[in-house]
Amino acid sequence: MPSRDELTARYRQWDNDHVWHPFTPMQAHCQEEVPIITAAEGFELIDTDGHRYLDGVSSLWCNVHGHRVPEIDQAIRDQLDQFSHSTLLGLGGVPSIELAKDLVGRLPKGLTRVFYSDSGATAVEAAIKIAYQYQQQRPGGDTSRDRFVTLGNAYHGDTIGSVSVGGVELFHGVYKRLLFPTFQVPSPVAYRTPEGHNPQSYLEFCFDELERTFCESGDRVAAMIIEPLVQGAAGIQVHAEGYLKKARELTAKYGALLIADEVAVGCGRTGTFLACEQEEVVPDLVCLAKGLTGGYLPVATTVATEEVHEAFLGDPSELRTFFHGHTYTGNALGCAAALASLRLYDSRRILENVGAIAERLRRDLTPLNDDDYVGEIRQKGTMVGIELVRDKETKEPFPYGLRMGHRVTLEARKRGVIIRPLGNVVVLMPPLAMPVDLVARLVDVT
Ligand code: PLP
Repeated sequence: MPSRDELTARYRQWDNDHVWHPFTPMQAHCQEEVPIITAAEGFELIDTDGHRYLDGVSSLWCNVHGHRVPEIDQAIRDQLDQFSHSTLLGLGGVPSIELAKDLVGRLPKGLTRVFYSDSGATAVEAAIKIAYQYQQQRPGGDTSRDRFVTLGNAYHGDTIGSVSVGGVELFHGVYKRLLFPTFQVPSPVAYRTPEGHNPQSYLEFCFDELERTFCESGDRVAAMIIEPLVQGAAGIQVHAEGYLKKARELTAKYGALLIADEVAVGCGRTGTFLACEQEEVVPDLVCLAKGLTGGYLPVATTVATEEVHEAFLGDPSELRTFFHGHTYTGNALGCAAALASLRLYDSRRILENVGAIAERLRRDLTPLNDDDYVGEIRQKGTMVGIELVRDKETKEPFPYGLRMGHRVTLEARKRGVIIRPLGNVVVLMPPLAMPVDLVARLVDVT
């Protein structure tokens, strides 16, 4: 029987030899002796050495209720006794039907048609294609609408389509020549403003730029895609109030669709089931993933309105079909997990806890503003970004190569907390069901 140390060393070696980690500088990774997770309990992850870590970023923003949740575990076991997977190409499946019915009941009125996929990127990819095809097939169809309005620093996933509508130079720059062009507008955030602007005038400029883009090119636009209220991967950038509403007004006025990418902000993360609800906006298409199964299995949805769906109806010979889908679309185990997770929102009053977490975060993080290296603390609901700067006055960032956020992450790990930075931004993203005393520990360690 190998000792714990031997077991850890063996797994580290195999990890270094064979596993190519996402978004990870592999050479540095192999020298870092990362924890190898072997179990989890509640809000903690446990590694092969037996160390316990608070899951401070919800296992990359998807864990909602904690780990090994009895109700979700049981729902998956029950589904295993029925069937694990069957295609949705030409067949129905009880779990995907029940999940769609439940989910539609939680969404703003009008969003009724659920298209399944398996990640945030694929949900966005489907939305892009649906919007493009919709414009051609709607009454009075228009083949010239081949552009998307996108935001600077947006992140919508890693497939070529979702990268095309993204704007994080660090992730996307290298693929530029593979991508389709978009009308990119500046995102309405004002921590750093271009010369000649103060925060107020810069935000006005962002609103005006959006309007100008639609005025000049609205007839070319298939859809605008936006992360409602908060751009997550951009560093938890919270949008100016009213921007989403403005986007809705302009898309409606110019005949473009509004795609709400709620992959990060949806499923209650910002305090309402959809972030869009906070500006009373109903999009034409909404993408959900991450939190949908409570962080258990990869299920995503692109939910459309009746009007959008109708454009895909007709005799098969008319070729109005949405020719898109994946082998595991609507996977039965994943849908059963998602349904069990959604029911816990009601029985455990998850959104109330989101409010309590948000309040506690706000209170406990306030003193950090006095730290010389904290440039800005941004928060929306349970999403927090603490931007570290070299100079508080000038807002000069730390050079990328210093990996300041990463260093904080390593220190936090030594103190029993797993967090994951975005460049110089330390991100806190607790599970929505985390008790507030554990949230306080998370802040304390950070
Ligand atoms: N859209 C948003 C807003 C995201 O934050 C992410 C991931 O962080 C994605 C899409 C991509 O999701 P996935 O990693 O599941 O493909």
